[in-house]
Amino acid sequence: MLRSVFAAVAFVAAACQTPISSVAEEAEAVPETDRPEWRLVIHGGAGVILRENLTAEREAAYIAALETALEAGAEVLRNGGSATDAVQAAVIPMEDDPLFNAGQGAVFTAAAEHELDASIMSGADRDAGAVAGVKRVKNPILAARAVMDQSEHVMFAGAGADAFAESVGLDMVDNSYFDTESRRQSLERVLREMARTDADRHGTVGAVAIDVNGNLAAATTTGGMTAKAAGRIGDSPLIGAATYAQNGVCAVSATGHGEYFIRVAVAKTICARVELAGESVGDAAQSALDQVAELGGDGGVVVIDGNGGYEYVFNSKGMYRGMIDPNGMETAIFEE
Ligand code: ASP
Repeated sequence: MLRSVFAAVAFVAAACQTPISSVAEEAEAVPETDRPEWRLVIHGGAGVILRENLTAEREAAYIAALETALEAGAEVLRNGGSATDAVQAAVIPMEDDPLFNAGQGAVFTAAAEHELDASIMSGADRDAGAVAGVKRVKNPILAARAVMDQSEHVMFAGAGADAFAESVGLDMVDNSYFDTESRRQSLERVLREMARTDADRHGTVGAVAIDVNGNLAAATTTGGMTAKAAGRIGDSPLIGAATYAQNGVCAVSATGHGEYFIRVAVAKTICARVELAGESVGDAAQSALDQVAELGGDGGVVVIDGNGGYEYVFNSKGMYRGMIDPNGMETAIFEE
């Protein structure tokens, strides 16, 4: 379902004259003259997120965490920083927050460990970096960024990726750093039920942004899916599946059942439809998500176009999400 109407749970209108509804209307296609000076759009995972299953306290905690991430990225953009630095800055607090399945609070594999994936892409030069199956780097998005900036490669996996992260001086932790009691209970439940529904198996964080120079960027980090087999890699570290950015076209960060997102090459499919078929990012994202649904998968994306027009599109019951630009901030969780 196309989320062009943002049922914002919170809207911080610092000097803002614009009601939320008109922000939503602008989202479909922003004429170049209306391009925001900068904009950041984030997600904190999609899934079966129902109001009746979330206590008021937990809902408030998620909203606060989304606001923290938005503000971290906005700080970069407000000061003229790059979209790439902004998406990275937005992802880090979500990696550090146990509420999200990225960094601390990552889901457990079937072997009761954590294996994390991350990717980042700069739309200006289509430079990209990714890590898959890392077990020791505290902030996987920083490892992905280091692969992009400090290696001649695009992707490192497993022990080699951790070793690379360590060699460039990133903070390393014991794998147990990522443990949380609630994720352990989820693992036990999934293993017990063997039903393997997607209900609480996944989650991911991600961000897309446009900076004052019109550059686009995207970033995504995940712990993957609860009880995933050791060595299983989802879409999150794959450029073209969960993450893509191309200046003047679009930037995408995806979350959902990775096996389906890989097969649809969701992020690149969206950008290709925008570039080659002239579709809006919302229509292109809906079309890609429809293909995911046809194959049996669910999840969502945040997308931004070359003029800063943006959409949240998801076919799951909810998606933690938010946007910030110079006019204010919005956040939402449930399907509205
Ligand atoms: N896409 C992630 C994966 O399949 C999980 C998620 O986004 O919820 O590993």
